[in-house]
Amino acid sequence: MEWRFFGISRTRVKRLLQGVVLGLGAPAGWAIISALGDISPQHPQYLFWLFTYMTFGTISIFAVFGFIIGRHEQRFAELSFIDSLTSLYNTRFFHMRFRQELSRSARQHQPLALLIGDIDFFKRVNDTYGHQAGDGVLCQVAALLVSSVRDADVVARVGGEEFAVIVPATDSAGAMVLAERMRLNVKDASIWLDDSRSIRITMSFGISVYNGKDPIAEPDMLYGVADRALYRAKANGRNRVEMGRTDDEGGTEAAGPEMRKA
Ligand code: GH3
Ligand code: MG
Ligand code: MG
Repeated sequence: MEWRFFGISRTRVKRLLQGVVLGLGAPAGWAIISALGDISPQHPQYLFWLFTYMTFGTISIFAVFGFIIGRHEQRFAELSFIDSLTSLYNTRFFHMRFRQELSRSARQHQPLALLIGDIDFFKRVNDTYGHQAGDGVLCQVAALLVSSVRDADVVARVGGEEFAVIVPATDSAGAMVLAERMRLNVKDASIWLDDSRSIRITMSFGISVYNGKDPIAEPDMLYGVADRALYRAKANGRNRVEMGRTDDEGGTEAAGPEMRKA
């Protein structure tokens, strides 16, 4: 376990000491400069040089320190939104982004599509080849999905073997084309278990679309519609895409990725 100092973590002690060193650096630096430049308090421009040193010295030090800490913060923020297995966005990011994209679509009166895809019979892959091979399959499927979409589309892993794609500025017809492309890309790909063995898998997809006109676009409702469409795709034989229907809107069996049983 990482060492602690009176219960304070190593990282915080390190930052504290860095702060102390930087704090001591300012008077120490002035002592050196004033000695080298022979600037005593009696020097006619003593205050000018002192203020110049304090202003530029402090700005430089704080700017460098802030830059380094900012870089760490950015890295942590990115990590907290990334799924560690597949490097796709995670469920937390998906929810945040879906809300934002929906509000933007409503403001700009543009349609927005949501696709949910689930690997068919994935349990069999795990049971036959092991959990580790299953993890490798998930990573390859993630890469296939990302390579099927545009840069503006957001692909996230929202469950074990379940993926969601936010597709801005796209209506039902466009969403259908995209989901079919994803389905075919996965179906036709050789998924490698190791250097010599590969398998074929399929995926089922459900779609829901916000038309950009209705004033209220409820994220949970739209998720539920896509989720029930996905259920239908499974029930109708798998390896297929189903479009959400009006009668999918009022259901109660699903409202979000955490609440749905796979
Ligand atoms: P269906 O076609 O109805 O979707 O069948 P399925 O077998 O894909 O669905 P089911 O919900 O029965 O099984 C999902 C499996 O996904 C079960 C679980 O072991 C596996 N799984 C979930 N998360 C992970 C993961 O992170 N890694 C691996 N290797 N497997 C996972
Ligand atoms: Mg599945
Ligand atoms: Mg599932």
